[in-house]
Amino acid sequence: VSVAVDDLLEEGLLTPAGFKESSAGRRQELLALNGSRGNFIGIDLGGTHIIGVLTDLTARVLDRVFFEIRPGLPVDIILDQMRAICGSLAGSAKATAGILSIGICVPGFINPSTGASIRAENIPGWSDIPVKAVFEKEFGRTVFTEDCSRAFGIAERWYGQGRGKKDFVFLDLGYGIGMAIFTGGRLHFGSSHKSGEIGHTIVEAGGRECVCGNRGCLETVASGKAIARDAAEGIKGGRSELLSGLTQGDAGSVTAQDVAIAAGMGDPYAGELLERAGFFIGLALGNAASILNPSAVILGGGLVGSNKVLVERIAGSLGRHTMGGIYRDLTLQVSNLGIDGSALGSAALAMNAVFDRVS
Ligand SMILES: [Zn+2]
Repeated sequence: VSVAVDDLLEEGLLTPAGFKESSAGRRQELLALNGSRGNFIGIDLGGTHIIGVLTDLTARVLDRVFFEIRPGLPVDIILDQMRAICGSLAGSAKATAGILSIGICVPGFINPSTGASIRAENIPGWSDIPVKAVFEKEFGRTVFTEDCSRAFGIAERWYGQGRGKKDFVFLDLGYGIGMAIFTGGRLHFGSSHKSGEIGHTIVEAGGRECVCGNRGCLETVASGKAIARDAAEGIKGGRSELLSGLTQGDAGSVTAQDVAIAAGMGDPYAGELLERAGFFIGLALGNAASILNPSAVILGGGLVGSNKVLVERIAGSLGRHTMGGIYRDLTLQVSNLGIDGSALGSAALAMNAVFDRVS
């Protein structure tokens, strides 16, 4: 330990933080992470937003940028926007040190050897984008790439509900649905870095066609995208005056967040939509839990924030669909990282590399 600590002190990653009297009467030297040793950028490309954060080495957020993506925005504009956000954070007046490295997460598969984004099912036209190469060339820093749900899971493990837990799953509920799986304290990647695609497990055999080419995937019935689609149909069919009012009659503009608000206000149709989504999410999660035997299931992502009705429906369905002996050992928790989880996890990915280098 003392050799490792000396290395960290020499690198300037740790800094002395005073002394403490121990019960044995011997003074103990305290050490702290040296926050100003370096800054990091974390960027999250989601289905409906880009979020960038600038952090120091203690994971304190120094600056943040949010950009909303309207459906159908061209891929080159999305990439330009990601570059602009990265550039603005790199030059931020709130920085406390130079940028050491950058983490970027994108939805969907990543090539682990090249850091390229293979395909994002929920961003039309997004395929084979050499994210790592593009950003390394432009910003001259090492760039780490990861799937957004896995990045969110990393944030949970570092500073969220997953702290101190070795075996847990994080379910990322947003425009799409993804999962991060931790076993024995380590993230599970799968044989080709594609694990955790719970959104594309089949919950309705022969059901609606999914963006992945299959039918009846969880995402076709329970994602933010699916809930908004069903809500729009309901508004057109005159099923909910409240939703119609919230969207001022423009059915196509309804979002899953509008449905959560309406359900919270007691709207029966919005409640039905969340009941159905919660049922299928609990079903898929119950199957995953019965296979993996995690100590906790953590729910997070844009669909979960202040959506009490959906969380209650998921909890009920999870209980019904998990093997009894496994369910008894399981706790269901809600993330407290809000919508910034994936961006924070991307920054953590960049930070982790600093310690990897020392060890
Ligand atoms: Zn699918």
